Amino acid sequence: MSHLAKTALITGASQGLGACMAKRLAKDGFSIAVNCYPSEQDIANAHEVAAACRELGAEVEVFPADVSDFAACEEMTKKVKERFSTIDVLVNNAGITKDGLLVRMSEAQFDAVTSVNYKSVFNMCRHVGAVMMRQKHGRIINISSVAGLYGNAGQFNYSASKAGIVGMTLTAAKELGPRGITVNAVAPGFIRTPMTDVLSEQVREKCLEAIPLHRFGEPEEIAGAVAFLAGDDASYISGQVLVVDGAMSM
Ligand code: NAD
Repeated sequence: MSHLAKTALITGASQGLGACMAKRLAKDGFSIAVNCYPSEQDIANAHEVAAACRELGAEVEVFPADVSDFAACEEMTKKVKERFSTIDVLVNNAGITKDGLLVRMSEAQFDAVTSVNYKSVFNMCRHVGAVMMRQKHGRIINISSVAGLYGNAGQFNYSASKAGIVGMTLTAAKELGPRGITVNAVAPGFIRTPMTDVLSEQVREKCLEAIPLHRFGEPEEIAGAVAFLAGDDASYISGQVLVVDGAMSM
């Protein structure tokens, strides 16, 4: 693969949607910076994802960093830039859930989810945004959720973090647009990944009933939306939230 390939940095890419996006963008010809949480298990998983991307012909490297940590994000951004020279696409995908009803939610539950899902997007946009401004081009794609647009009982912390991502997306689109940078969000509905695998049969059935396409989404269907926003066909799309939910939230 040529060293002139564009580089995509994907956070939380050791499994689930992030891993699928890494493989899809590798297939589309991007060099891939695979970010993962710096635990032994996540690093091992991220190396498997990297091997799969390499098989697709991409240059790949794993960058372990906790994206809720501002300084760690700055350090990672520097390393990715040193390794690949440019950062053309940033996908803010890392996320967690710690569900519970509002009046029973602990402060720790709220802080954990907002720092990983929401503050991380500030951390990464702040550092990678500065690189992209100097480059005078870039694509930022933030992974929100239909829970951030319409709310979801039992996910006060999660929907707050995902709604916040929409606000950051809109403002970053306005601030970074003059430097040729597009900023969009993707809001998935219910997609089959390790995050949703742990939900009870009862919850899954209730969700399924609410989806007109009458099936859960596949990770490839979110990766496809991300690939579109990262690709040439989306060059004039910015400040948008692309809902990919089988019409669940309609
Ligand atoms: P997942 O749990 O399979 O993957 C999340 C990834 O984020 C993991 O690789 C995890 O290690 C990583 N991560 C967690 N904390 C991190 C940290 N501090 N630093 C770096 N990495 C960290 O979940 P998923 O379903 O693949 O979700 C990916 C994104 O899509 C999340 O932001 C999630 O909120 C969003 N989303 C998912 C669904 C769905 O139905 N699966 C729906 C809407 C939105």
